[in-house]
Amino acid sequence: MSALGSDECPLRVAIVGSGPSGFYAAESLYKAEIPLRLDMFDRLPTPFGLVRGGVAPDHPKIKTVTKIYDRIAAHEGFQFFGNVFIGRDIAVGELKLFYDAVIFACGAETDRRLGVPGESCPGSHTATEFVGWYNGHPDFRDRTFDLSAEAAVIVGQGNVAVDVCRILSKTVNELKNSDIARHALDALADSRIRRVYLIGRRGPVQAKFTSQELRELGALEACAPVVDPGELELDPVSQAELDDPNNKHSQKNVSILREFAERRPADTPRQCYIRFLRSPVEIRGADHVESVVLEKNTLEGEAFHLRARGTGETEQIPCGLVFRSVGYRGVPIPGVPFDEEQGIFPNIGGRIAADGQPIAGLYACGWIKRGPSGIIGNNKPDSAETIKALLDDMPSLPPCPRRDSLEMARLLAGRGVRAVSYADWRAIDAEEIARGQRAGKPREKFTRIEEFLALLDK
Ligand code: NAP
Repeated sequence: MSALGSDECPLRVAIVGSGPSGFYAAESLYKAEIPLRLDMFDRLPTPFGLVRGGVAPDHPKIKTVTKIYDRIAAHEGFQFFGNVFIGRDIAVGELKLFYDAVIFACGAETDRRLGVPGESCPGSHTATEFVGWYNGHPDFRDRTFDLSAEAAVIVGQGNVAVDVCRILSKTVNELKNSDIARHALDALADSRIRRVYLIGRRGPVQAKFTSQELRELGALEACAPVVDPGELELDPVSQAELDDPNNKHSQKNVSILREFAERRPADTPRQCYIRFLRSPVEIRGADHVESVVLEKNTLEGEAFHLRARGTGETEQIPCGLVFRSVGYRGVPIPGVPFDEEQGIFPNIGGRIAADGQPIAGLYACGWIKRGPSGIIGNNKPDSAETIKALLDDMPSLPPCPRRDSLEMARLLAGRGVRAVSYADWRAIDAEEIARGQRAGKPREKFTRIEEFLALLDK
């Protein structure tokens, strides 16, 4: 057989996942300018992963990155297989029969657990559920959130927590012209939430949210940020972290928080309380969340490695809703090794490995490779590293035996799987935009798999 990656034997690559890391992997492959056959799979009928299902509806600028992904998808030979669940509709072992290399770019689809009593009490949710719900993700569109209480507690101080806080705190007027799912806008219109608590286990210097996102909490129509100046008093090690000239992240955050703390009490219908040095130790409620018990923390350790330690002193926040926003976690796929502790596919620079040995032809990029951190742009160099490893391996990769995507498409069809092509997605996209225009929104998303398929097959 001719060498892999030659005109006679184009490299056949499957990318599992069509979010940013998947598209940047595709981009890096195209840049290599080798004869290539690239197929991208997604379990949803729609591409773009967290750009569609995670980025907040009131952050439309971030979503314009999909224009770049459209250009990548326009390469000759690119094929999208949406609505195909790898590990269910087709096994990883089968996929390997059709592709020389399989790259997993499937993100981190579930949440880390808090591990406190009451975590599963009705009214206690993961941020992922809420984010998926307001973004119209089919997995979460039928979730219900009891917005009838006056207080909600969000555990965690990353950007996801801030997104959840902002969506709970904004008025319908502030959200109605975004691409928020209609069912979410309707439910939020009846929300009685007046107080939202954003709880960090460490101090203001260690908070993970970025300044741009934090600043937005100070510019809402009907909600004011509330920060206790006492909680901004720093221990000596936190002060040293703040004084580090390279620590612009914390300097910007602390300066905004100080400005919030100096504000006169606002007469707004809603308030967002940003609290520090507190960990939830119990979520209480008989049939439904009634309160969260927080333990006050101190910090211990060296600068930039400070850890929260409980003091034994507790307080209770009465609330009817809790969102745990303490980070995402990858989900295993049968046939691929999984690191239970880190919630990633174990890998060496993107080469998926078992017992420290790379497995020929299996690669990872994005959050399933490095864990759930970083913004969209961080995926570009991450995916490039994986593709470099793949291209370096190319001379030694065993060519797959079945070198025809049509055969694979027939196999899927024979199993009753309705694969969604990129042309199909464009039809969905056009219809969503048209529906949105009628409602004064950038798009009105379809939110059920059946709706997508009914549109395509009508
Ligand atoms: P994250 O930034 O890692 O934040 C997780 C938060 O959970 C931290 O405050 C962390 O505190 C806290 N936490 C973890 N375990 C905890 C526990 N057991 N008890 C209490 N608190 C706990 O994660 P994320 O918010 O899910 O965001 C994921 C990535 O997506 C981030 O890189 C984020 O910047 C990015 N993102 C960006 C945007 C944007 O650009 N607008 C929007 C959304 C998400 P510690 O610091 O103490 O660990």
